[in-house]
Amino acid sequence: MPILANRVLELTMRLGVVRFGLLIAAFEILFSMLVTVVLRGIVVGELHWVDYLRPVLFGLIIAPWLALFFTYLIKQLGESRDKLAQAHRKQQALNAELKRKVSELNREIDERHNAEAQKQQAIRYLQREVAERRETQIKLRDQAVQLRSLIDSSPDLIFYRNKDGIFSGCNLAYEKLINISEADLIGMEAADVYDASVFEQVRITDDKVLNEHESLTYEQWMTYPDGRKALFEFRKVPFYDARGNLQGLFGFGRDITERKQAANALEQAARDKTTFISTISHELRTPLNGIVGLSRIMRDSELSEEQHDFINTIYLSAVTLGNIFNDIIDLDKLEREQLEVAPMPLYITELIADVRALATLMCRDKKLTFDYQQSGELPPVVEVDGTRLRQVLWNLLGNAVKFTQQGQVGLGLKISPVKNGKVSIEFRVSDTGVGIPKGELDKIFAMYYQVSDQGKTKAVGTGIGLSVSQRLTQAMGGSIGVSSEEGKGSCFTVSLTLPVLSEEQLPDATAIELPALHVLLVEDIELNVVVARSVLENLGCTVDVAMNGTDALRMAHEEEYDVFFLDIQLPDMTGFDIAESLMNDPNQRLRETPRIALTANVIRDKQEYIKKGMLDAVSKPIDVNLLTMALGKAFGCIEESVKPAVTVTHDSKPSQDESVLDLAFVSQMHETLGSDLFAKSIDMFAQLMPDYVETIHNQLLAGDNKEVAEIAHKVKGAAGSVGLQRVQKLASQAQDLDHPAWEQNIQEWADGIANHYAADVATLRQQLKTLDG
Ligand code: ADP
Repeated sequence: MPILANRVLELTMRLGVVRFGLLIAAFEILFSMLVTVVLRGIVVGELHWVDYLRPVLFGLIIAPWLALFFTYLIKQLGESRDKLAQAHRKQQALNAELKRKVSELNREIDERHNAEAQKQQAIRYLQREVAERRETQIKLRDQAVQLRSLIDSSPDLIFYRNKDGIFSGCNLAYEKLINISEADLIGMEAADVYDASVFEQVRITDDKVLNEHESLTYEQWMTYPDGRKALFEFRKVPFYDARGNLQGLFGFGRDITERKQAANALEQAARDKTTFISTISHELRTPLNGIVGLSRIMRDSELSEEQHDFINTIYLSAVTLGNIFNDIIDLDKLEREQLEVAPMPLYITELIADVRALATLMCRDKKLTFDYQQSGELPPVVEVDGTRLRQVLWNLLGNAVKFTQQGQVGLGLKISPVKNGKVSIEFRVSDTGVGIPKGELDKIFAMYYQVSDQGKTKAVGTGIGLSVSQRLTQAMGGSIGVSSEEGKGSCFTVSLTLPVLSEEQLPDATAIELPALHVLLVEDIELNVVVARSVLENLGCTVDVAMNGTDALRMAHEEEYDVFFLDIQLPDMTGFDIAESLMNDPNQRLRETPRIALTANVIRDKQEYIKKGMLDAVSKPIDVNLLTMALGKAFGCIEESVKPAVTVTHDSKPSQDESVLDLAFVSQMHETLGSDLFAKSIDMFAQLMPDYVETIHNQLLAGDNKEVAEIAHKVKGAAGSVGLQRVQKLASQAQDLDHPAWEQNIQEWADGIANHYAADVATLRQQLKTLDG
C-alpha cells in the first residue's frame, strides 16, 4: 500500500495536479461506463445510448470532486512522505551519533581500563619504593648517628660554614672551645663567635678558601672559656655539591700547644747548648790569643829544629782552634739571627795584603805553594765589613790548605771596572786537593755538613765554616759558589759588588766644623731628650724640645730653627706626619728647614726616610760621629757621600759586660755628657723602669699585645740611650709584634727585662766608676 501510494504520488508529481485530475476523470468515466455496460448487458441485456451518456455525465460531475479529493489526498501524502523522509534522515543521523558515542564510550572504557592497570602498577612501584626509602632512611639515620658520634668523639675541632660564612654545624670539641651549643651556633656568623683579634685571621683565611677555592693550613692561638690558651693548627677546605657548586667550607682544628711547647723546648735546649758552647768559646778565645801570639813569637826565635816543629804545631793547632771558636760564636749569632754586617770604609788593598800574607804562611807550613793572581785594578777604598770579608776568605783559604796534601792553593781576584760608583770583585780560592764529589757539592754549605771519606782531613773541623761564610756573603749582598773535581781540587768563588769611595772622602768626623745651630728636638722619652740634648749642645747647638707632634708644629711656627730632629714614634703622631705637615706648609722657611729622623729602629734603607720627607736618618742610641756627619752634610760642611772614618767596634775588649752593656757607646756617652749628666741619665732610667716593667706585666695578663709592644718600644729607646745593650735587645724583640714567635717568647723577654735591668744598671754604674777612675 505505501508503495502504491508512493507510486501515485510520484505519478501526480510527474503529471501535475490538472493532468492527474483529467486522468482520474477519464478513468472514472471509463470505469462507470464499463460497470454500467456490464451491469445493463447482464441484467437488461440491452444497451441504450443513455447508458453510455449517464456514466459520462456522472463522470463529468464527479470528476472534479474526485480530482480535488485526490489532489488534497496526494498533497497530504506528499507532506507525510517528506516528514517521513525527514524523520528517517534524523533517525539515521541520530543512529550515526549514537554509534559514534558508543564507540567513544567503548574507547574511553578501554582507556580507563588501561589507566586503572597502570595505576595499579604505579601503586605497586610506589609501595616498593616507599619500602626501599624507609630502609635507606633507617640506614642513613644509622650512618648519621655513627658519623655524629665519630665527629663528636674527635678531639680535633670540626665545624662547617656555608658559602655566606654562616655556621651550619660543629662538633663537641668546638662547642667546648667557643662555649656555644651547636643548636645556637647554627645561623651565627664567624664575627659573632670570635673576638676581633681572632676574627681578622678567620676572615682572611675564609676569603681565601671561599673566593680562591683553596685549602689552607694556619696556626692560631685560641682561648677557652676558662681563660686557658691553646695553639691550634687549623685546616680549612672548600666543599662542593654533586654538580660542583661551592657550598661552603669545612674547618678542622688540632691543638698543637704541646707539640709547639716541645718544639720550643727542643729549640731552646739547642739554643742554650749553642749559647753555652759559644760563651765558653768566647771565654777561651782570650787565653788562646795569648797562645797564638806567644807561639808565633817563639817560633821565630832561635830554636832547635825539633823545638821549632813542636812550637809550629802548637801555633797551627791554636790557630785552628781559634777558627773553630769563631765559627761556634758565629753559629750562636746565626741562631739568634744576630749575625750582622756593618759596612764601613775599608782600604781593601790592605785587607788583600793581610790575607795573602796569612795564606802564604799557612801554605808554607804545609809545603804547598801559594799563588796570587789579579786581573783589573782594586779601588783603594770600598765600603764593606772588612772583618766579615776577611773571615770568609780565611775560611775558604783555610779549607783549601786543609784539604790539599800537595800542590798549590790559589787566590785570584777578578775586578770589573768601576760602574755607577760600584765595583764588582770576584774572589776565587782554588786548590789542588782531594776535591768534592759532585753529589755533595750542593750539601757542603749546609750547617754541620762534612763530606765523608776525605781521608785524614775529615776529623778536623766542625762543618760550620762554609755555612757561616755563605750567610755572611749573602748579608754583604753577594753570592758564593763552588766547582770541584774529585781528586783534582776545588774552586770557591765569592762575588761581591761594593760601593767605591775615594780616599778624600774619609774625613774625621771630629774635624767637621759645624755652625752654631738652633735645633728643635722632637722626642717624647725624657731620657732620650737628655742624651740627645747634651750631644747636640756639645756640638755647639742650642736646643728646644717638643715632646709631641702638636707642640713641635706649634713651636716650628713660633720660632726660627735651623734643623728639626724628629723622633718617629710620638704619642700623638709620627715623625713622618710632622715632616709631611712641614713639607706642605705655606711658609717657605719651614718647608726648607732640614728634617733629620731619629729612630730607635735599625736603618736598613735611608731612602725610605728620604722618601717620607727626611733629609737623613740617625739611629738611637745616638752615635756622635753619625750625628755630626748628618749635620755636616745638611749644612754643606762635607760632601754627600762622606762616610764616618771612626766607627764603633765591639770586638775590642771582650768581657762579661759586653753582652750587658754597649761598652763603646757607654764610653762615648761618658766622654760626651760627662760623668754627672750620664749618671743622672742612668738614675732617670732606673726610676722609669719599675713602672714600665709593671705595665708590661699587667698588659700581658690582660692580653693587650699592642700595649705591651708600645711599652717595650719605650724601654728599648730608654735602655739604648744609656747603653744597656741586653735590656735594649730584649725590648727590641718584645716590641716587634711581627716576630713569628712573639706570643711564645714574649713572656721570656718580659721576664728577661724585669729580671736583668736592675743588675744591668748596677753594672753600668760600675762601668761609669771605672771610666771615671
Ligand atoms: P769544616 O771545614 O770545618 O769541616 P766547612 O763548613 O768549612 O767545615 O766545610 C764543610 C765541608 O766541605 C768540609 O768538611 C769538607 O768536606 C768540604 N770542603 C770544604 N772546602 C773544601 C775544599 N777546599 N776541598 C775539599 N772539600 C772541602
